Parts: sequence; structure tokens; C-alpha cells
Amino acid sequence: MRLFTGVFFISSLVSAAVVDVQPSDPYNASLVESNKLRRVLQRKVLYEHAKKYQSFADTTPERNRVAGSASHNLTVDYLYDTLVATGYYNVEKQPFTYIYSEGNASFSALSKVYESEYMTYSPSTGGSTIKAQLVKVANLGCDQSDYPEVKGKIALISRGDCQFGLKVARAGAAGAAGAVIYNNLPGLIGGGTLSNLTRPEGPYVPLAAISGADGAALVAAVEAGPVQGSLSVNATIDVKYTNNVLATTKGGDQSNVIMSGAHTDSVSAGPGINDNGSGSIGILEIALQLTKWSVKNAVSFGFWSAEEFGLIGSSYYIDNLPEDERAKIALYLNFDMIASPNFGYFIYDGDGSAFNDTPPIGSGAIEHLFEGYFRKVGLPTRPTNFSGRSDYAPFMEIGIPVGGLFTGAEGNKTAEEAVLWGGKVGAAFDSHYHKAGDNISNLNMDAWIQNTKAAAHAIATYAISTETIPKSSPSRLVKRTTKHTIPGACGSAPLHLT
Ligand SMILES: [Zn+2]
Repeated sequence: MRLFTGVFFISSLVSAAVVDVQPSDPYNASLVESNKLRRVLQRKVLYEHAKKYQSFADTTPERNRVAGSASHNLTVDYLYDTLVATGYYNVEKQPFTYIYSEGNASFSALSKVYESEYMTYSPSTGGSTIKAQLVKVANLGCDQSDYPEVKGKIALISRGDCQFGLKVARAGAAGAAGAVIYNNLPGLIGGGTLSNLTRPEGPYVPLAAISGADGAALVAAVEAGPVQGSLSVNATIDVKYTNNVLATTKGGDQSNVIMSGAHTDSVSAGPGINDNGSGSIGILEIALQLTKWSVKNAVSFGFWSAEEFGLIGSSYYIDNLPEDERAKIALYLNFDMIASPNFGYFIYDGDGSAFNDTPPIGSGAIEHLFEGYFRKVGLPTRPTNFSGRSDYAPFMEIGIPVGGLFTGAEGNKTAEEAVLWGGKVGAAFDSHYHKAGDNISNLNMDAWIQNTKAAAHAIATYAISTETIPKSSPSRLVKRTTKHTIPGACGSAPLHLT
């Protein structure tokens, strides 16, 4: 409650409606200035948008905003309709499909229930349980010849050497009823995926993944005599239809575009109001207020869907953007989690000074712009690395200078960081990260408004001039070769493929 005292106080003084922006004629209005744009951003208005997001989540029993769900579609419509109403932007929905997979696995043998993990794209057992003998496959199960005697049985396979998906397809080709993959390290694998929905090598069979310690004990038991296992998998695999929302100013130089982006979807566990209501609302409100001024460079906003399932929306956007259009994007700014309850002020390490990252040339200038701004307003910052787990990654890969802000996810705040920013030492920056508690009650409004103003400073500055950013880099025209089909974003570990 402490965090919201200020909100209610301010709300008694200000009666601004959420969408109460009278756009000026973009061709006659004065040019945007950082301080003017920042001055019209209010925490109360951010909070009003967040209440909308929460209400969308609350329309469904799951109380989330998973990409392509009814509640997420309400989010997309809200962004689209609000931006269209300004008349200041060319706004479009960019539709695409993705394959959603979620489930849980249960495996028992020798009167023991093993701690089991589901792997993405593993098929369901359809409400029944497979009861069959366990057979240890030869070697690491990467070759079809490793599966001579598994027909109708549960194949017991070690992790290692080749993809999980290949092993499970090989087991299916050999007629196995199911498969158990055990780690080649003592603990659990910690999240895995079969990588593709189907494989030419064979049909997938239901799968549970267990720890290396449990696997070693099972292998010893199987080698000593016959062992019966019970395997069940509950899984949902759906093709989902969803949309990015893209908005670009009608005014400004369309061949020198300042792009900002944030994802709009949540994980299934909760409503995702910090992750990433905070970032998408922050740039939405900047977009709405920007309409009071004109810009020299076109300013574009990308509201990405299906980030939580592997940066699908932003990757789709880049993959389908012609090379001459890519070359027009001067830089990309990413805002993913900017209101974490136990926040830090983190800036992506564009100059590579802290993490040895080598982001495209120009990314350092973006980092320095943010650093200079925070210094000016007296807020200490620290760099954060480009882990590849948010929507800047596809932009980086084609050589577009990138930057952005982040207030922390599941990582713990150190004593040194608590001296800088206050908050709880040894507690996560966002203890509700990817959980049901990532709701309207667990935002830090101070961090949110400060980061939104910092974002506005960067957008207003670059809307006038990109002279500190190199116009193009040679890698800009290189085609993307890697695809982000691996779930795991906003600080969570990517799923393992092998
Ligand atoms: Zn996120």
C-alpha cells in the first residue's frame, strides 16, 4: 500500500482522463522537447492504463494475458484503438500465428514418484497413464540403432550429444509407448523443449524429464531386473493467432525512424502488469503525449506479442521487414519491466564496458544518453547485459543500434545495490516475476514514472536528431540466420534444446 499513497494523493489534485490528449497539427506544432514531453507524463495516468490491463486479465478465469488469449486480444485492441484515435499515427495490427505448448508430466516407478519436468511440444497421454516396462536405450539415443527393443515400452534415455526432440522422435519411430530423459548432471534439466512441433525422424511420444541422480538410480535398477514405469503427460498444444501493434508518426522523416518497443503479452501464471504492462504502457503514454508536438524524425512504436514464448512477435516483424525498410530504422529502444517492486535502475550495456557484449555500433551512444539523463536527475544507475532474452535481440542481430531500461526480474538485490536504490537486500527485484502476483498491487510507481520519463527523454532527443548514432553499419543488411524459437524471456533462462 505504501507505494500507492502518492497515487491517490495526486489523483485528488489532477483529473486527467487516460486518453485526454488533443493532438496538434503535426505539421504546425512546435518541435518536441525532452523537458516538455517529460513534464506531461503522470504516474496517475500510467496507473489508469495498468488498471485497464488488470481488468483485461480479470475477464478470464486464468487471470493472465497470454498472447492470443481473449484477455490479450483486449490488450491489443486497447493499444490499437487508443493510438488510432489520436490521428497522429499510422497504426496497424500485424497478425501472425505461433504454437503454444504447456503441460506437466508425472512419472513413477519402483513405488516412487519422481520429480518430473514437462518439455515443450511433448504430446499428452490424453488423460490416461502409460504403464510399461522401462528399457534403457544404447549410448545417448541419437541414432535409430540405439533403440532395438523399445516397442510398447518406455525408453529411458540420457541427455547429451543431440537434441531432446531427436531422441523422442527416434523413440517414437521404434514404437516406444513413452520416453523418460534423465539429466547428465545430478539435478533436473531445468526446462527443455523438443524445438519443433514435428520431426521427419518419427512421431513424438509422451515424455517426462527427470534428474541425473534419479536417472542413475533407475538405470542401475533396470540393469538389475525388469522395472515397470507409469507415465502421464497433460499437455495443451495450440496454434494461436495474435497481433503486434505498430504505430508510426505520420510526420517526420520516414527514412530515419526512431523505434521503441515493448511486449504486450504475459506468461500464463499471472497478469503480467510489471512484465510487461509497465514497458508497453510507458511507451503508449509517451506515444499519446508526443502528439502535442511535431518531430523531425519519424517515431515508431512496436507493441510485440508472444515475447514470452520466444520473442516471436518482434522476430516476426524483423523477419518480414524488407531490407530497405530495415535500413531506415536508426535505432531501437526496448522497455521490458520498468516498475519492479524492489527495483534497480538498469541501462543496457550498449558500449560493452561491463559485460563484453558487442552490440551494434551506436548502442554505446544510447547507453550514454540514458546515463547522462539519470545523472542529471540524480538517480544512480548500473549496466545490465544484453542477455538476448527480450525483443531487442532481433534488432541487434541485423545491426540496428539498441538500448533500453530494465528494473530487474528474479535476480536478487545486493547490499551495494540497496545502498544505491534502497529496497530489500537479498530479495528479488521482482519477487512476483512470472507469477500470479505480478498484478496491479505490485508495481513501484516511482521507478515506473522515472523510467518512463527517461524513455521520453531518449525518444524526444532522437526525434530531433540522431547525429550521435551512425547512419548504418555493414551488418545492417545481413540476413537473420538464427530464429528465436526458444521460450524464456525477461530474465528467465531459455529452455534447453539438448
Ligand atoms: Zn518481459
